[in-house]
Amino acid sequence: MINKMAHKIDNQTEEEKREILRRYRHLLKTASPYFKEGDAQLIKKAFRTAADGHIEMRRKTGEPYIFHPIAVAQIVVEEINLGPTAIAAALLHDVVEDTEVTIEEIEREFGTKIAKIVDGVTKISSTDVKDFEFDRNISQQAENFRKMLLTLSDDVRVIMVKIADRLHNMRTLDSMARHKQLKIASETIYIYAPLAHRLGLYKIKSELEDLYLKYTHQEAYRDIAQKLNETKVKRDKFIEDFIAPLRESISNAGFPARILGRPKSIYSIWNKMKVQNIPFEKVYDLFAIRIIIDVNSENEKSDCWRVYSLVTDSYNPNPDRLRDWISTPRANGYESLHTTVMGPDGKWVEVQIRTERMDEIAEKGFAAHWKYKEQNKNKSKKNGKRSDNSGLDAWLGVIRDLREKSKKGEWTATEFINDFRQDLFEKEVFVFTPKGELLTLANGATALDFAFHVHTEIGYHCLGAKVNQKLVPLNHQLKNGDQVEIITSKKQTPSADWLRFVQSAKAKAGIKEYLKSQKEIVVNKGLHILRKKLSDLGLHYNETLLDQIKIFLELKKSYDLLHAIGKGYITPQHINRFKEWKVKRDNEAKKAAVAAPESENLKKNKNKAKIDTLFIGDESGIEYTLAKCCNPLPGDDVFGFITIHDGIKIHRTDCPQMVKAMAQHGDRIIRAQWKSQRELAFLAILKVQGTDRLGLLKDITQVISGDLQVNMRAMNIGITDEGIFAGNIKVFVYDTQHLETLITKIRLVEGIVSVDRCDTDE
Ligand code: MN
Repeated sequence: MINKMAHKIDNQTEEEKREILRRYRHLLKTASPYFKEGDAQLIKKAFRTAADGHIEMRRKTGEPYIFHPIAVAQIVVEEINLGPTAIAAALLHDVVEDTEVTIEEIEREFGTKIAKIVDGVTKISSTDVKDFEFDRNISQQAENFRKMLLTLSDDVRVIMVKIADRLHNMRTLDSMARHKQLKIASETIYIYAPLAHRLGLYKIKSELEDLYLKYTHQEAYRDIAQKLNETKVKRDKFIEDFIAPLRESISNAGFPARILGRPKSIYSIWNKMKVQNIPFEKVYDLFAIRIIIDVNSENEKSDCWRVYSLVTDSYNPNPDRLRDWISTPRANGYESLHTTVMGPDGKWVEVQIRTERMDEIAEKGFAAHWKYKEQNKNKSKKNGKRSDNSGLDAWLGVIRDLREKSKKGEWTATEFINDFRQDLFEKEVFVFTPKGELLTLANGATALDFAFHVHTEIGYHCLGAKVNQKLVPLNHQLKNGDQVEIITSKKQTPSADWLRFVQSAKAKAGIKEYLKSQKEIVVNKGLHILRKKLSDLGLHYNETLLDQIKIFLELKKSYDLLHAIGKGYITPQHINRFKEWKVKRDNEAKKAAVAAPESENLKKNKNKAKIDTLFIGDESGIEYTLAKCCNPLPGDDVFGFITIHDGIKIHRTDCPQMVKAMAQHGDRIIRAQWKSQRELAFLAILKVQGTDRLGLLKDITQVISGDLQVNMRAMNIGITDEGIFAGNIKVFVYDTQHLETLITKIRLVEGIVSVDRCDTDE
């Protein structure tokens, strides 16, 4: 094997050679405390084989390739706590794929264990399919994932080395082409981050998520990072003041402890802002306090509870926010006691209490878990308290079981990967069409959700379904691996109680739309009655007046109001009382422009925009459509995605709809870039909220079409019972900068609380 290398060209400089050795020695230094006899020689041999094998190769960054395997090995020992076998495998992980060395040679030189790990890691990245029957309906990438997951039960170290490999690639993603960055980042968030989470590698999981965000949502990432930085001094001071009394009482009680204030990851902050729809300033838990006590494992549970009691002597706890993962550890082995207490300044602060042992498991996951399990084997036999069958072991048992079924052919490729992913996410269900096509639905989806997922028309006429050949009702909940055939009838139509059991947004929207069309007839009648009644009272019907009637009658939507009138629930007497109320409230008449029609000019511009402002690859004039899920604007960071039936679709790189598609079909991503052209106009949707007052609509309209000369297409405003004003405004803008200016101006209108850009008008 070494001979084969001899003729290779060595083009590394002396300085590079020194740097390679320096990094290798650093690796040895980190790992050597754990070495047993012969380990040092093993690592050295692995390093030499890799260094010789990759000698001609360079990374995209221009560095010698061997930097990468060394870095992966460093992660394996330093951040995952694995031993010599895994370190050697990490050094060798790209050798079989990229050099002339064969897996048989690795086995001969390094033994079966290392060869198996290297083989596993190699198989995950290679694209040829040997041992398994390939299902055409899942993408190549899904097939690769499946191979990776299959290796899990053989030796978990395969997946750990692969995660280390991915982590280093993400850390050095800068040198990759943009479309590759998007593909790699999407795969990472799709499978590697959840896997790291499942294996208890919390630190790596957070870093992978942060890096994902950095490359796909560049602006949001920079923004949060900057704000975290700006508020750091103030936060550190708060943390110091908060910790001081705890430090004293815990030390007085005789517990050696480390107390830290740990910032939350940028990704988790971003997620909170998104889910709760709040700005950075409103995220209250930007950090958590962690108390790590150094006690022996005999009394660790009661010791943690004693510390809890000391914490709550200083600060009042929120009883709803107590989490005890010591009595029942999380499925991935995580143990800790979490509480949220009221700190000074009336701010909630999360406090995590754990022992050094629990902390190491939390940070380094699986390997640490096994280490402690070995140590405690004898102890636990003695007191018999903790069962060895932790969640993690049970989970691996399930994987092993799946694998056996897969081998015997009782389990198809698709079923396998989906069952596995189901377990990672716990929030999705995977089902099949009669033709064997795989669909992913949210967990809890019913047969009717499935029907709407296939097509709205099929949903409308869905009578029932056959699940695995058996007839089931519409509200039947689907399980993983179910094969679903929908039965339709022309006579069937949606009814309101369908809304009680469907759970997908698509089904709900479809049903509501149908019901709305039925209501339309009643609503028109209501409108007719209302107009007549108002004119009898000497009032002119308009949107503003309608809004006031809604406030008076405590109704949220014009629709509901008109429908209630049409049905006769609201009578002319109600309107009489409204007039009296209105006269008392004010005498000011108001008018508000509510809708500005789309002009001919704009229509022309919109078509033109399609031809010459977006460059796909390096060309302009390629046909494309803008994706409706994220409504990209010029100036947005975008990419093209080649769809099967619908040509090229342009999405924002932060489009939430596309993460999965990008991960599974990375080869369909193409680079796209806007070249700004001032005369064009694009549709954007603004979500506006505020407190209602007379003339508010008029003022907003004035800012939009008067001051800024922006063309407004539609305004859809509702007022809640408390007089809260909320709605969407569709405007045409030139680009993101223009949109920013507009948002800033609207925010200044009196009574407006928030203005945000939203992706769609739902
Ligand atoms: Mn690699």
